[in-house]
Amino acid sequence: MTLLETASRLRPPELGPDEVRLRAIRQGGNSVEAFRAEIREWLADHWGEERAIRHRRLAERDRGWDPEFSRELGAKGWIGLGWPKAYGGQERSPADQMVFVEELAYAEAPLQVHQMAEMVVGPALIAHGTPEQRAEYLPCILRGEFSCALGYSESEAGSDLASLRTRAERVGEKWIIEGEKMWATNADKASHIWLAARTDRSAEPPHAGISVFLLPLDTPGIQIRPSMSMYGKTFSTTTYQDVAVPETAMVGPVNGGWRVITSALAAERMLIGRLVGVLQRVFDKILDHFRAAESGPQHLGHQADTLAKIGGLAADIEAARQFVFRNALLLQSGRIPVHEAAMTKMFAGELQERLGEGGLDLLGSAGLLSEEPGAPVAELEHLLRHSIMGVIGGGTSEIQRNIIATRGLGLPR
Ligand SMILES: Cc1cc2nc3c(=O)[nH]c(=O)nc-3n(C[C@H](O)[C@H](O)[C@H](O)COP(=O)(O)OP(=O)(O)OC[C@H]3O[C@@H](n4cnc5c(N)ncnc54)[C@H](O)[C@@H]3O)c2cc1C
Repeated sequence: MTLLETASRLRPPELGPDEVRLRAIRQGGNSVEAFRAEIREWLADHWGEERAIRHRRLAERDRGWDPEFSRELGAKGWIGLGWPKAYGGQERSPADQMVFVEELAYAEAPLQVHQMAEMVVGPALIAHGTPEQRAEYLPCILRGEFSCALGYSESEAGSDLASLRTRAERVGEKWIIEGEKMWATNADKASHIWLAARTDRSAEPPHAGISVFLLPLDTPGIQIRPSMSMYGKTFSTTTYQDVAVPETAMVGPVNGGWRVITSALAAERMLIGRLVGVLQRVFDKILDHFRAAESGPQHLGHQADTLAKIGGLAADIEAARQFVFRNALLLQSGRIPVHEAAMTKMFAGELQERLGEGGLDLLGSAGLLSEEPGAPVAELEHLLRHSIMGVIGGGTSEIQRNIIATRGLGLPR
């Protein structure tokens, strides 16, 4: 009996309950692909080449921010895809949401006006907000008319967010906020900030003394100081001096902010799919370049090396996509991916660096051209500068590795 025959007689391995559920969900793949086709058709009408080029000509700091496009998405009903229908969403599956995020990223569609509100604020308000807060904010988030920056990090509290020091004290019927936040992306453009503040200084463990507030960024006492990042966008230091907000600005219970922050994380994980769409787009541009150059001798000198690099990157991008879809399937089967999401974030984030560096190896110094006419892959240089977001923003790669080892593999902290 040949090895193949022997193998074919072996019983397939027993499937765990997760795998059974995942297989069942995979069979629904056709509807996901139909949704993908619908998205592409809509994008062709609403984000055609001409509009995309006009947007690309904006200064780097303004790219990605397009209130009109956000309103159009809202009018189509494509903001809040995963939200419950009872709150105006579509209850679309995580797989649909992933495909949506990936397709819009691939098309370079600008989502920053509404994205944090949709992915972080909305789901947290649905889970923890009061009926009044939901009535006030959810409809305008769904219309694409509400923008929000995230005020978590401080100079001494990034990876260890629980040690944050910005504080809020109750005085009469108000909360008075004092402190300073760092790195808030889009705080110079957004209307509101989603702020984590300490409401109990002696809480043990420290994360048990944190509360979350949603407040307008034009509240008296807030100062916003934007800084330019190496990838051409601003992020801001925001300072809070005697900032008075009503009790209704608090989301969730007093000192219950940690649960509010972590409950929004599952939705935030969808954003990793966006990165895969971006990587695929830049990779396809690199391929286009080499395909177009096939007839010219200039790129063929190191052909074997070139092919090996391209093949390796293709495999990595496909692996990142599989990570992302596995998270979607786990969510769909009712499990919150924790270490799986950390693996995805780490792998896709670091792949952004590898693709940027690999692309430069492949294209040589021409790969550094971006705005200039004749740039072989105009997006590549920016992708590399932006890769700091993939390996630091939203939790560093080192922290993701720790999560995999402790939460995933059960090793002691
Ligand atoms: C592009 C970008 C956009 C961002 N946007 C926002 C935003 O909108 N809102 C916001 O609130 N924040 C934002 N941030 C901040 C981001 O969340 C923090 O930078 C991140 O959490 C890391 O914190 P830190 O910079 O204080 O580094 P630190 O926590 O001081 O870490 C420094 C180094 O030590 C390592 N390290 C720390 N602890 C451990 C550990 N336990 N084990 C192993 N290694 C460790 C880290 O991996 C890192 O290499 C943004 C950051 C970037 C880069």
